[in-house]
Amino acid sequence: MLSPELPHDEPLRQQVLDDNELLDTPADPYLDTLVRVVRQVFAVKTVLISLIDHDRQWFKTRLGLEIAETPRTISFCAHAILGTRPFIVEDTHLDLRFHDNPVVTHNPQIRFYAGQPLFSEEGQALGTLCLIDPRPGHLSEQQVRLLIDMATLVEGYLKLRHVSEQTVQLRAALSREQRKTMLDPLTQLWNRAGLNHFLPKQQQQADELGLQLGVLFCDLDYFKKVNDSHGHAAGDQVLWETARRISASVRPQDVVTRSGGEEFVVLLLVHDEHELLQIAERIRSALNKESVAIDELQLNLTISIGAALGAPHEAPAKTLNRADQALYQAKGNGRNRVEFAH
Ligand code: GH3
Ligand code: MG
Ligand code: MG
Repeated sequence: MLSPELPHDEPLRQQVLDDNELLDTPADPYLDTLVRVVRQVFAVKTVLISLIDHDRQWFKTRLGLEIAETPRTISFCAHAILGTRPFIVEDTHLDLRFHDNPVVTHNPQIRFYAGQPLFSEEGQALGTLCLIDPRPGHLSEQQVRLLIDMATLVEGYLKLRHVSEQTVQLRAALSREQRKTMLDPLTQLWNRAGLNHFLPKQQQQADELGLQLGVLFCDLDYFKKVNDSHGHAAGDQVLWETARRISASVRPQDVVTRSGGEEFVVLLLVHDEHELLQIAERIRSALNKESVAIDELQLNLTISIGAALGAPHEAPAKTLNRADQALYQAKGNGRNRVEFAH
């Protein structure tokens, strides 16, 4: 196996990557959407937006792969960032650089790889947009151009994101080491520690803006049955898909967390009960309206939601608690429904 070389200006490249505040940040619904389109267009199993960090590659967005990172030494993308055009391996079994790489000989058993480097404003390659398949493959000239175009869209989005107010705020509030401890690797949402961090911050922001803190406590219905009937791995995939659907149902500034097991808490700033319940209903229907495809299975899932609005001078932990109680009511009243804590 041939391990990737380091770019000639690696310290600078790493610095630019760090400055972009992309590593160890939650999944992004727009990038999730983009990789879904890419996967459809190229008909491959896996599409990744990978970032090449010191000694690992970390996936900002992943579709069709269950792991959040791999060592850099075995990374295909670490080879790809050495060039400017797509790095393509049509069949790893026929390639002496890769045939005995553990990601070829073991899961995810990469056979075909095509990765286009993603460049920062400064021209540094931060990572790649890449296609992976367990079968050998080939890209036509036209497809190569399309992959480059798709990567340009990702780059454009990352550049805009870098200067967005939200990123600036996140940077001010949390160091990268803190962020790392607040991410749930399974769903790439904020975890319980993230919820505890953002809850008082959101309350404070609501006060400053003259808005109200809204809390949605969401819990999958009869989730244990999924594990019991189809296994824990299928359960994990359901959690992943649930996370995507919840994130896609809310607004970019809303904070989506996996607070535990099959429970998701969303923190929002809203004007009133009506606005909060509209968003809650969007989440409920996002689960209900379309079955979740896990390999060959089609699973019909529902979610119950408890909603609460911060009352004047109420501690945010209390608001969270009331949302939890409303969730309990939603379960009692038949599930697949939203209950509001009055
Ligand atoms: P209800 O409608 O009342 O919420 O029923 P439920 O089955 O969804 O709830 P219950 O609390 O009985 O079961 C939750 C299950 O979630 C039990 C646990 O094994 C499973 N679970 C918790 N965390 C994970 C995880 O990370 N992965 C998987 N696959 N399952 C998990
Ligand atoms: Mg449940
Ligand atoms: Mg539960």
